[in-house]
Formats: sequence, structure tokens, C-alpha cells
Amino acid sequence: MSGSHHHDHDHHDDHHHDHGKPHSHPHSPPAPDDDDGYDRYEVLLQTAIRELLDEKGIISAADLHRQIDYQDSLTPAIGGKIVAKAWTEPDFKKKLLADPLKAINESFELDITTPLDLVVLENTPQVHNVVVCTLCSCYPRMLLGIPPAWYKSLDYRSRVVNEPRKVLAEFGTVLPDDVEVRVSDSTADLRFLVLPNRPTGTDGMTQEQLAALVSRDSMIGTAVVPAPKK
Ligand code: FE
Repeated sequence: MSGSHHHDHDHHDDHHHDHGKPHSHPHSPPAPDDDDGYDRYEVLLQTAIRELLDEKGIISAADLHRQIDYQDSLTPAIGGKIVAKAWTEPDFKKKLLADPLKAINESFELDITTPLDLVVLENTPQVHNVVVCTLCSCYPRMLLGIPPAWYKSLDYRSRVVNEPRKVLAEFGTVLPDDVEVRVSDSTADLRFLVLPNRPTGTDGMTQEQLAALVSRDSMIGTAVVPAPKK
């Protein structure tokens, strides 16, 4: 949460292409509740970059469309499978915590290549993790897909650091007083994935059944994974 949060825009950083340089956009922060304005700005910027890249023959329109298709194919289901595997396979969990991308690529036959660091934050009965990007909207898109609108909102970004319990309560997540809440601030080259606690009452469940319980928000940390309904 310190001043070392140097920043550039992350919308494509999670993916295979490499523009050579980090994107940068001026951080004129969006007005509160003005995600639409922010998105319009992003669209304009992306259009300008796309045309420039195409014109210079750096990235063709076809490549870009493939990239967009790839982005659209990413959903929180990938994250859910990772969490379920970590809950049921201690060896995988150990590898996941030590070297997340390597563990994920090997175990799921994926080829996520990114210059970004990924850190998996393990919740425990004593510690609950929640993730934010205070300056813009850095997010582990390679595992969770497109971020929800609230994640990009100034309200969430500014408040979760100072009053995490209150913000979590607004999401319906009320944690016992003896649980420590840790807020991790994403940066231009670092993404976080929360490994939520496995709920009780799930002993006999398969990985597939477990994965279905894992919500996107539980991997951001604004939710916990509830025990399955009986
Ligand atoms: Fe960001």
C-alpha cells in the first residue's frame, strides 16, 4: 500500500502479445460512479492503439481479434478449478503457492505466458485476504476473466484499504473479529489470486463439484465460499 505502486494500464498485459513497452495512460481518475466515462476513454485509447499497431504492421487486426477471442474465453471457471485442486491435492497446493503460473500451466495443460508475477494468497481460519488495485483496475484476467464493474470503481478502490471490514460487510461478508483482514494492492506487474478456505460439509465432494462452489468474488476476497446447501 505504499508509494512503490508504479502503474500502467493493464488491460492486455495478462496476455501473450508484447507491445515492447508497458502501456501507459494518464491516471486522470474516473469520477465516482462514472465507469461508463472511464470505459469510453479506454475504448478510444484502445482504438487508437489498435490502429497504430496495425498501421505499423506490429500487430495485425487478425492477431488482435484472436487476442480478443482469447480474452473473452477467460472466465472465473479457470480459477475455480485451480482452487478445487488446491483444496484436494496438498502437493498441488504447495506448488501453487510456491510458483503459481508454473503449477497452473503444468496441471491444467495451459500456456499462460505473461511477464506479470502472480501471487496466490492463502486464506486460513485466522487470515482473510482481499485484493484491490488502488490506482486503476489491475486484475488476474488470465484466471478470472474480465473484472466486475465494482472492482474498477473509485468507491471500492479507495475504501477497501481503509475500512475493509465495512466494505466486506456491504458484500454480505461478515468475518469474525479474531480474523485478520489483509488487503493486497495489485501493481502494474503483480497480480493476486485469493485461495479461499474450503467450506465445511464438502468432504465427499469431487473437484468438479467443489469448483462449482468457488465464486469469482471469493477469489478476489470480497466473499467466502459458503458451505453447500443441504
Ligand atoms: Fe491497476
